[in-house]
Amino acid sequence: MYSVQEARERILSQFQSTETESIPLVQCDGRVLAVDVTAEHDLPLFDNSSMDGFAIRAEDSGKVTLNVVADIPAGTNPQVNIKPGEAARIMTGAQMPKGANAVIPVEDTDFDYQKAGTTAPKTVSFTKEMKFGYNVRARGTDLHAGDIVLKKGRVLKPQDLGMLATLGIGNVQVHKKPQVALMSSGDELIDVHEPLQAGKIHDSNSFMLAALIESTGAEVIRLGVARDNRESVEELLSKAIGADVDLIVSSAGVSVGAFDFIKDVIQSKGNLNFWKVNMRPGKPLAFGEYMSKPFIGLPGNPVSAFVGFEVFVRPTLEKLGGQIIGNRPKVHVRAGEEFKSDGRESYLRVKIREENGIQVVYPTGHQGSGNLLSISQADALLIIPAGVKCVPAGQEVEVIKL
Ligand code: AMP
Ligand code: MG
Repeated sequence: MYSVQEARERILSQFQSTETESIPLVQCDGRVLAVDVTAEHDLPLFDNSSMDGFAIRAEDSGKVTLNVVADIPAGTNPQVNIKPGEAARIMTGAQMPKGANAVIPVEDTDFDYQKAGTTAPKTVSFTKEMKFGYNVRARGTDLHAGDIVLKKGRVLKPQDLGMLATLGIGNVQVHKKPQVALMSSGDELIDVHEPLQAGKIHDSNSFMLAALIESTGAEVIRLGVARDNRESVEELLSKAIGADVDLIVSSAGVSVGAFDFIKDVIQSKGNLNFWKVNMRPGKPLAFGEYMSKPFIGLPGNPVSAFVGFEVFVRPTLEKLGGQIIGNRPKVHVRAGEEFKSDGRESYLRVKIREENGIQVVYPTGHQGSGNLLSISQADALLIIPAGVKCVPAGQEVEVIKL
């Protein structure tokens, strides 16, 4: 029997991240950066005004009238040199003229007139004391040339796209999205659009698992449902091979059930290991390869499949996708009631409530591994470490936030 960590490490050691590709910046939200991004120049690149007002010499400020010798809109490159007793009208974002070192906001002057198109006054008066650098965004205050701005392995966020654009990077080197084939299995499964009949259930795992796979940034190739016979399993797996996927994920059909053909088929053209993992739910886990494509067989029970995905498949897809592993944060909260375990590393479905400023967790409904309601209502998975059989109410515990 493997510990959860051993099983995970054994799986992860078999994977390398996908190749990289260069794509236009507009397509980069949610993609995984494949290189460190370095600033080629300082930002801002030039000292500029953070206010609409008058660029002045701070030494000149306090109860004065200055001659306005220039007008500097944003986007221009001022040639004027501000001398003692002089000022220039300046707009937010406009480059500071030489000689000036502070900006007096227009509303602090006698020219509090901000209508578009107004020409600059001949003189400007104000009483405020200004210090060196007031209302000036100095060159390099955001970042310096040579700074590493975004690290490889980062999942790009909208703000990062803004950052990349600011740096003038219009094409970005990212990892290719992992391609994952997904298969359900079992003669009892019927399509979600078909009415239920005695003995049948809807295939729910494929919807849940496809969405989970996509939540990691990977793409899903839905193989459908393999029936409990050799030909059906072979047919679906051949689709995965044809699609040249990076990973095949299946649910169900790998236990000791007499109708579980998946293992026979895979072993005929690859190998499949059946692991007992010291966890609950999700103790049986199948890992191997079919025609050189890695294969992970999750349990069929929906809750077990979910937990197995979070514990084994999510980190695998993060690694495949070139991400820094561990995007689901683990946080510490308090047990709201007593939790029991059989001593295996347990993943219980819990809801988080805020009580007197502290996050407290309670179980969601019946915790059996076939009960989708418990997982649907859960905010988090509570982890009870191996060897612990009872967590008393009030104890600090670790959860994975979903
Ligand atoms: P098995 O591993 O085939 O013995 O399946 C274990 C349990 O999971 C059985 O109760 C199955 O009916 C159920 N199950 C298997 N596949 C799915 C699926 N795709 N959606 C919902 N339940 C499933
Ligand atoms: Mg089955």
